[in-house]
Amino acid sequence: MKKSLTINASRLHQRIQDMGKIGALPGGGVCRLALSKEDQTARDLFKQWCQDLHLKVLIDAVGNMLGVQEGSQPELPMVVTGSHLDSVATGGLFDGPLGVLAGLEALQTLQENGYDFKRSLAIANFTNEEGARFTPDMMGSLYIKKGISQQEIYAAQSIQAPHVSFESALQRIGYQGKNKLQDLPFHSFVELHIEQGPILEQENITIGVVEKVQGIYWTEFHLKGVANHAGTTPMHLRHDAGYVAAEIATLARKISQQFAGQVATVGMMQFSPNLINVVPQEVVFTVDLRNTNHDLLEQAYQSLITQAQELANKEGVTLVAKSLVQFAPVDFDAGIIDKVEHNAQNLGYTTRRMPSGAGHDAQMMAAICPTSMIFVPSVAGISHNVKEFTHPAHIEAGTNVLLGVIQELLEE
Ligand SMILES: [Zn+2]
Repeated sequence: MKKSLTINASRLHQRIQDMGKIGALPGGGVCRLALSKEDQTARDLFKQWCQDLHLKVLIDAVGNMLGVQEGSQPELPMVVTGSHLDSVATGGLFDGPLGVLAGLEALQTLQENGYDFKRSLAIANFTNEEGARFTPDMMGSLYIKKGISQQEIYAAQSIQAPHVSFESALQRIGYQGKNKLQDLPFHSFVELHIEQGPILEQENITIGVVEKVQGIYWTEFHLKGVANHAGTTPMHLRHDAGYVAAEIATLARKISQQFAGQVATVGMMQFSPNLINVVPQEVVFTVDLRNTNHDLLEQAYQSLITQAQELANKEGVTLVAKSLVQFAPVDFDAGIIDKVEHNAQNLGYTTRRMPSGAGHDAQMMAAICPTSMIFVPSVAGISHNVKEFTHPAHIEAGTNVLLGVIQELLEE
């Protein structure tokens, strides 16, 4: 029988606050870009906490960290939990650190209660989950699933000036390790994360039981027309790249209404020459398409490309569509989904099954071992924002669910 344990909420709260001081911004929130000085300090603190709990700290060639509580039967595949300590440039205290520090808290609770570890339990801090300094995002977990080579990662250049390679930034912070985390036997992975959306709060639900992650397609469009005088060029003689860009943006919205569960966003658009009295010659813009259903996502994408081409042809504008990212939706493990749900319900928390709208390390881990996630509510659905907040009671609830799930996984 599983002993019913509960975490120390004030200790967890204190660790979240302490971590939030690293890279703290004057008005609240944090800036802790991957492999920055601040990321280094956050890693140092995490490492210190791991060592305080007598965990073995493993670091791989791209800086992924694992704090391992070794079990008495180390040949058994290990249970892993965790998330990331990097942030976007104006991030909050919870996106990422919650998963890492809740894992640490669950592990410490087990230790304090004299839990007899047979299987090992590891807490992960994945490198560059956000992709705010180096692309692609979820880089560290993508590397563990062998979806990207070390060479490719090392060559990545920072988005911000002064431009540095991933390799030199990693060496500078001293987190280029020798452990081969890719080759470790993983039993399972479970990640606690804030929802980063409004659904749980709106429905007054404490625990989101995450069944899947939406598929994501990013496409960059490059339109080329002819710059001309805005006053003297008759409308029927124009090759207006700006007009076509606007039509495609409208098309993206229409497509989102044609396919169930489809969302579409035009988040970036750059005009050239970008002048009030000149017909636009060139426009570069992006379309972000997401759906939990892969077939529908693929249909939406094909429909977008075909109709965008027709719109460009009509105006005599050339169109080049470049695919930047195509991640298929990921289904989580039915067994761990059930564990999340019944642990939450046994603790008396309200639950709701839901997909994740955002990408997470868990979607990469799902390729190598049974995986799922636990969501807790984000106040007003706000994230990637200094105002990001989750109530302490929800953090405590989510971490207790995590603890229960980890215990069951360790017993398998
Ligand atoms: Zn995150």
